[in-house]
Amino acid sequence: MAKPLSYTLILAFLLAVIVFPVDAKPDTTIVVTTLSVLQDYVQQIGREHVTVTSLISGLENGHSYALKPSDILAVRQAHMFVTIGAGLEVWAKQLVESAQNSTLEVVVTSKGISLLRNTGSIHTKGGKHTFGNPHIWLDPENAKSMIRQITTRLIKLDRANRRDYLANQAEYLRELDTLQADIKRRVKKLPDRRFISHHPAWPYFARRFGFKIVGNIVEHSGAEPSAKHLSTLVQQIKKTGIKVIVSEPQLNQKIPRILSDETGARVVTLTAMPGALPGTNTYTAMLRFNVSTLLETLSP
Ligand SMILES: [Zn+2]
Repeated sequence: MAKPLSYTLILAFLLAVIVFPVDAKPDTTIVVTTLSVLQDYVQQIGREHVTVTSLISGLENGHSYALKPSDILAVRQAHMFVTIGAGLEVWAKQLVESAQNSTLEVVVTSKGISLLRNTGSIHTKGGKHTFGNPHIWLDPENAKSMIRQITTRLIKLDRANRRDYLANQAEYLRELDTLQADIKRRVKKLPDRRFISHHPAWPYFARRFGFKIVGNIVEHSGAEPSAKHLSTLVQQIKKTGIKVIVSEPQLNQKIPRILSDETGARVVTLTAMPGALPGTNTYTAMLRFNVSTLLETLSP
């Protein structure tokens, strides 16, 4: 083993202190996910057969997450690790390597989904982007593909409960179909579907449901907009009569407020991560919340 001694010592110490970071139900598949949205998908399909935890809660920023030693231990003890991929969790590769779990089933749920290439897809510090926009799950059609991959992998690890997983999947996919049709019907009546977004989280959502993103305050999470960019946005909002600026609870609220003060456009807070706002604890609840909030603000 070519690992530095200090690393081995730290790990040994942590293992001694925290023997069971995951409080797993007996005879369950232990699953660790990067984001809370993936935790919800796994829970919907696996139900009583899984113990699932998410490294990142809805309130943290998935782009700028700092790994904790307990994350390595959680992945070391897990049977399955579920990620988005597409350049979102830049820290996931390092995490899997550090966990040294040779039987770990790693699921990259963006596999097979075609990514939108917008200007706001820089998710690595200092580097230029090589991936498309990673916020794929905000389109339920993409969510269905992600869910099917999760189901396939749960079955691979636990064939005995195959019928349960397939039944749960069928039920959840039907729920998503109903939700999607309901959202489409509600949005159809809306004459003005334009908004400015804080960071580019919404292009898949907008494409699916017919919203139009006119501009972004920042091109990637954690960036600061230039004065020139802000004044361009102010002029654009005033000239075209944009009524809504979409912010997110994980981001700094200062700049959306300044834009709102300058233009009279309203700031609404939506979330791309379940659990970040009251009433958004599941993926479907989050989508309903986001759509209802947008409809309330955009309706004439
Ligand atoms: Zn993002």
